[in-house]
Amino acid sequence: RIAAVDGNADAGLHAFLHVDAEGALAQAKASDERRAAGTPASYLDGVPIAVKDVLATQGVPTTCASKMLEGWIPPYDATVVAKIKAAGLPIIGKTNMDEFAMGSSTEHSAYGPTRNPWDQTRIPGGSGGGSAVAVAAYEAPLALGTDTGGSIRQPAAVTGSVGVKPTYGGISRYGLVAMANSLDQVGPVSRTVLDSALLHELVGGHDPLDSTSLTDEPTGFVEAAREGAKGDLTGLKVGVITELQGDGYQPGVMARFTESLELLKAAGAEIVEVSCPNFTHALAAYYLIMPCEVSSNLAKFDAMRYGLRVTPAGDPSAEDVMRASRAAGFGDEVKRRIIIGTYALSSGYYDAYYGQAQKVRTLIQADFAAAFEQADVLVSPTAPTTAFKLGEKLDDPVAMYLNDLATIPANLAGVPGISLPNGLADEDGLPSGFQIQAPAHSDARLYKVGAALE
Ligand code: GLN
Repeated sequence: RIAAVDGNADAGLHAFLHVDAEGALAQAKASDERRAAGTPASYLDGVPIAVKDVLATQGVPTTCASKMLEGWIPPYDATVVAKIKAAGLPIIGKTNMDEFAMGSSTEHSAYGPTRNPWDQTRIPGGSGGGSAVAVAAYEAPLALGTDTGGSIRQPAAVTGSVGVKPTYGGISRYGLVAMANSLDQVGPVSRTVLDSALLHELVGGHDPLDSTSLTDEPTGFVEAAREGAKGDLTGLKVGVITELQGDGYQPGVMARFTESLELLKAAGAEIVEVSCPNFTHALAAYYLIMPCEVSSNLAKFDAMRYGLRVTPAGDPSAEDVMRASRAAGFGDEVKRRIIIGTYALSSGYYDAYYGQAQKVRTLIQADFAAAFEQADVLVSPTAPTTAFKLGEKLDDPVAMYLNDLATIPANLAGVPGISLPNGLADEDGLPSGFQIQAPAHSDARLYKVGAALE
């Protein structure tokens, strides 16, 4: 299937940056043997999976879609990768993404964009466009993504897949090349809600190698999905977030959203309107906090220890080498964020920018807390529009950032969210996404309500 549809940077879907056919076949063979012997390693033993190229895979290239890490072969596995290996899932390959997970369209990949299987002239969402497309185009039944501001949920929405951002700390970040540590979360991408629940239970749970890892047991997700599939949501209170609808949201996306609310009502849920007034500042706070963390995290790419090294002619100093390597190795969007973050953290500006943004973050957390007093889950469209054209927003960073309007609050507050397909927008026939958010530690609710809508 990959050979038939994936193509390359110039044509085809280009969901993969690296396909490990040999490795995957060897793993599949071992899986067949375990199955034949009646001793599968897990219930997903033998089910192939694609992994976003931001997660370290031992012996298999990991580039974060950056020239900075071209040719880097990690000497170790991310904890989630070790877990899927131990569970017997053959890893098909590494999926394309925006460079270092910065973007909403996968156009910031240094290796060329991924294309949306619904219309190859359109973006697949980002930063995890490759993982979403691999699943949507039947190149892989499952994938792993990462979500710092929506990079699992928004690509799922615009490709018609299911994507889950778990509670912050629910899945280990060890071996995930950090973008913004306080926001990053690994999560599943799949075609059905149950599939995500199955994968989430396998890869979730405490990891002593990640200091922010929760001690919650990753259980009850599959059970919740099976319960939800019965279609009875009697007693459930669903909060519609006032601030995440209307202006700026495409009519066809809103029409599908209204229909999903009707389905929830028909299943017995009660719909209430809740206001989260500070969500209107979420985007501004995120686009300060995130670059501050980015500027700190990416300082390790100094061309001294690993990664790209460009040595200018003459007798260059270490600083000259760093400057030349970073100039050549990082793309424009990465540079933009390093510069914004460095500026916002500099003395004299720290309180005005980073400090203020952190205060807004606290207000957003308070909004969620108040909203969850009134409702068990909160819903909104996942993204304001369907997939836009490749190139359309590439030269306008703010227009690109606006795609994350509805997904960013969950990262700022650490709460879990799921995006599921809820039909095609009338005006363009492209997939629209429905987002459900739950309180921290209550990921099971996402699976119950999500499965009820399937
Ligand atoms: N689109 C957002 C950004 O560019 C989200 C990125 C992400 O979740 N990794 O920051």
